[in-house]
Amino acid sequence: MKISEFHVYQVDLPVRGGPYRMSNSELFSVRSTLVKLVADNGLAGWGETCPVGPTYAESHPAGARAALGLLGEGLIGSSVQPIPLHRRMDSMLYGHRYAKAAVDIAAHDLLGRHFGVSVADLLGGALSDHVPSYYSLIVDDPDETARVAAEKAAEGFPRLQIKIGGRAVEEDIAAVRLVWEAVRGTGVRLAVDANRGLNTRDAIRLSRQCQDVPFVLEQPCNTIDDLRVIRPIVGHGIYMDENSVDLNTAVVAAGTGLVDGFGMKLTRIGGLHPMRAFRDVCAARLLPHTCDDSWGGDIIAAACTHIGATVSPRQLDGVWIAAPYIDGHYDPTNGIHIIAGHIKVPTGAGLGVTPDEAVIGAPVASVG
Ligand SMILES: [Mg+2]
Repeated sequence: MKISEFHVYQVDLPVRGGPYRMSNSELFSVRSTLVKLVADNGLAGWGETCPVGPTYAESHPAGARAALGLLGEGLIGSSVQPIPLHRRMDSMLYGHRYAKAAVDIAAHDLLGRHFGVSVADLLGGALSDHVPSYYSLIVDDPDETARVAAEKAAEGFPRLQIKIGGRAVEEDIAAVRLVWEAVRGTGVRLAVDANRGLNTRDAIRLSRQCQDVPFVLEQPCNTIDDLRVIRPIVGHGIYMDENSVDLNTAVVAAGTGLVDGFGMKLTRIGGLHPMRAFRDVCAARLLPHTCDDSWGGDIIAAACTHIGATVSPRQLDGVWIAAPYIDGHYDPTNGIHIIAGHIKVPTGAGLGVTPDEAVIGAPVASVG
């Protein structure tokens, strides 16, 4: 099966109840980039990549479109099998994994549709028909954060992530303590995510002043060196998110015991093919991790759900999707929903979702 057409779409996703606030950004709308690959047998597959604004990571929407523009022509005639496909993409453009991920996801969707199996089946097989999600509590007034935490725990989310950073650490400490008071006894697990926003001094202080609160500290500081400094000092498990920029970095972090787990994003690591390898390395090291993406609609949500379903439930910390912050779906029939804090694994062939082109609009670029 070879690629015969390559189409790129852009969709603006307004943030419901915005802004979405992290330590380093405040977003009212996010621009997603979709890829449709059409194969020489007439089948189509969909992919998506959606940087959450230009300051979250070394990726931005216009960069995704530029990289895909550079790749499109050379992908015509390429195999859709992940190994030759990634070799072809890497021969045309170094890095830019977040753009290549959209092509990788579309190729997996195509392969699944071709063989009549789900993407989870292609990735080794689902272990469950639902995966746990988790909810991100944005940087906000600590009392409001605690109020929303109680609400989301009652909805059935098994895990909550408290966003911190970008303000006085005293406020972050207050937010963590108030959330703990609000959810204590419910069984809800907590992650405290600074999105690189703390210095080492404040990360150490936060951990020490919340020593009695069980949580993992996700990407507290900006660099791997910072994580190495605080690792032996803090009393909480450390998860790496933004610093795990590629498979090699994640493998080294896992192999050297630098971290206790990962927040992993499908597009950051380059798509489902490298994510599968990451999953297996984490399984070998008994390291928990999430299967997320930074943002995006039904396509990326389906891809994260499929890979999440193949992770040992003991090690899956959840599948974060942006659905709670987005109105509407690309696929009005089979769109991905969170119900009682969990996501049903799509059952159709491939990703199990098909965007309605009346919803997403015409392509902004086409080759083939
Ligand atoms: Mg994170």
